[in-house]
Amino acid sequence: MTISHGDLLYEGKAKRIFACERDGQVLVEFKNDATAFNAQKKAQLDEKGRLNCRISSCLFELLEREGIPTHYLGMAGDTWMVVQHVEVIPIEVVLRNIATGSLCRETPLPQGTTLDPALLDLYYKDDALGDPLLTDSRLALLDLISGEMRQGIEALARRVNAVLSPFFRAQALQLVDFKLELGLNAAGELLVADEISPDTCRLWDLACTDSEARILDKDRFRKDLGGVIEAYGEVCKRVQGACPTPRNCS
Ligand code: ADP
Ligand code: MG
Repeated sequence: MTISHGDLLYEGKAKRIFACERDGQVLVEFKNDATAFNAQKKAQLDEKGRLNCRISSCLFELLEREGIPTHYLGMAGDTWMVVQHVEVIPIEVVLRNIATGSLCRETPLPQGTTLDPALLDLYYKDDALGDPLLTDSRLALLDLISGEMRQGIEALARRVNAVLSPFFRAQALQLVDFKLELGLNAAGELLVADEISPDTCRLWDLACTDSEARILDKDRFRKDLGGVIEAYGEVCKRVQGACPTPRNCS
């Protein structure tokens, strides 16, 4: 750690958020805790925090270069990131390019079906409720966001997909699906927040046809496939080729 931090503001499943002496900024510490199935399954995985912090930093810098606003300001040590403090919108945006996971449990769509255009779903971010899928009418009923904000969120998420999908493809990785969290900074700007890592993206190795061996994301942990950190390390190796020296903000 090379930057001094203030009070712990929030401890989540994968990260801790600390106050920072700089106005409008907070520090994010990436932990080695792995959780799945709404934290019913837990483990400590050495190096996960470092790998996810590094991968996220590279991907946020990529998005920034493509003109997509994010909370990212820079790294501050191996497992620390400086970000703009945002009011996180309690909605998880999930974009799917290929059908798998809960979509195939909840619908008759066969595993591996290509979704073009990508399927975009909104989920209510609430662990106690199990992050339920939001229908249009439930979204209106809960009055969580305006119609205009919803359009902004969906357009931003599709732009992220339009940047990340070809980027990963160039690293021989298929971006199967991913989850985004978005927030509003003090100026009211909508930013991509949280993290973008193998915890939040499904990534398949395009060089591999075996349906288990190709998995390079948190599904290795969910499905007890082993080699979780090796997979995250492989993603990091490929991603950091495009961003060898992430910005240091300490
Ligand atoms: P969770 O257990 O909710 O998944 P995480 O450990 O992933 O939590 O992350 C910690 C919390 O930090 C999450 O609630 C996330 O929404 C929040 N967060 C992410 N980015 C920011 C930010 N820029 N400002 C404030 N909070 C943030
Ligand atoms: Mg999280």
